Amino acid sequence: MNTLLTDPVAPHAMVLHETGAALRFEPLTLAPPGAGEVRIRIEACGVCRTDLHVVDGELPHVETPVVPGHEIVGRVEAVGAGVTWPVPGERVGVPWLGGTCQACEFCLDGRENLCDTPEFTGYTRAGGFATHVTARAAYCVPLPNEADAVALAPLLCAGLIGWRSLRHAGNGRHVGLYGFGASAHIVAQIAIAQGREVSAFTRPGDVAAQAFARSLGARWAGSSLDDAPAPLDAAIVFAPDGALVPQALRQVKKGGRVVCAGIHMSDIPGFPYAWLWEEREIVSIANLTRDDARSFFADPACARVTTTTHRYPLDAANQALDDLRAGRLTGAAVLVP
Ligand SMILES: [Zn+2]
Ligand SMILES: [Zn+2]
Repeated sequence: MNTLLTDPVAPHAMVLHETGAALRFEPLTLAPPGAGEVRIRIEACGVCRTDLHVVDGELPHVETPVVPGHEIVGRVEAVGAGVTWPVPGERVGVPWLGGTCQACEFCLDGRENLCDTPEFTGYTRAGGFATHVTARAAYCVPLPNEADAVALAPLLCAGLIGWRSLRHAGNGRHVGLYGFGASAHIVAQIAIAQGREVSAFTRPGDVAAQAFARSLGARWAGSSLDDAPAPLDAAIVFAPDGALVPQALRQVKKGGRVVCAGIHMSDIPGFPYAWLWEEREIVSIANLTRDDARSFFADPACARVTTTTHRYPLDAANQALDDLRAGRLTGAAVLVP
C-alpha cells in the first residue's frame, strides 16, 4: 500500500461557479464511486489551455458548478461495482475524454473522439483541480508507477493532443509548430526522436520561448510572422489565434497539411485560394481516443520526453490560470494538492 493512500487529506476542490470568475477553494464531499467508476486520490493535475477556455466561458454550455482539470495523475483508492481494472493503489491518468456512448455512428466506427454524447473531464464531469476525482474506469489510462507525478501530468493532454496532432500531420520530415507552449514542447521532442526536423514559431519577440525551443533541439525558432527557414511538410497550430492558420498555410509545401490542435480559436481571416491550391489541407483535431492514449504511452519516444513544469499548490489554481493566460509560462503549469 502506498503511503500516500493512508495520509489523511481533507478533500477539497477548486470550483468554478460562474464563467469569467475566479475558482473557489472549497471542501469536497466524497461519494462512493458508482458502477464502473473509480475514486482517485490526485497526486498532480496539469493546467491546460482548454481549462482556460472552460473558465473563461469560451466553450459552449459550461454548466456550473464544475471542477476544471483533465491532466490528472493519481492513485485509485476505491472502486465501484463491476470494476476489474484498475485496482486500489494503482496509478492511473484521467484525460479529457471521460466517457463515450459506444453506440453512435462515430463510436461504432472507432472514432470515439467524435462521439455524439461524450463526457469530458473537467467540463461535463468533475475534473482534477481537487484532491480527489471520480472517473469511469474504462477511460482511465495506466501510468508508470515510479515516474514523477508532476512530470507525467502534462502528458495527459498536452502530450496526447500533441501526439494525435503529429500523427495527423503525416510523415513529413520538416514540421512547423505554431505556439511553443505545453503541447509543442512535448511534440518537438517526439518529432525529433522520430528523426524529423522542427521549426518553432512563437509570439513575435518571445525570445525566451524561442531559446526554449532551440534547447529542446529545434533547428530553427523565430516569430510566427517570419518565413520558415525552408518550406514545411506540415504545420501544427497550437496557439488559439486564427490568423496563424493562413500564415502557416503559406509555409507548407504542395500537398502539405496544417493541423489545428486547439478546441477553440479566434476567427480565421480570409486568404487567397492560391495558398490552399496544390492539395494543401487544413484539418482540425478534436479530443482524443483511448487508442491515442495507449499508443502514446507505449511509444518509446514517450518515455524519453522530459516535461518542463511549474508547480503550484492546488489553492493557487487561479494564479496558474492567469500565468497561462498571460503567456508567462515556459512549459506546463501543474497543480499539486
Ligand atoms: Zn458515441
Ligand atoms: Zn487539455
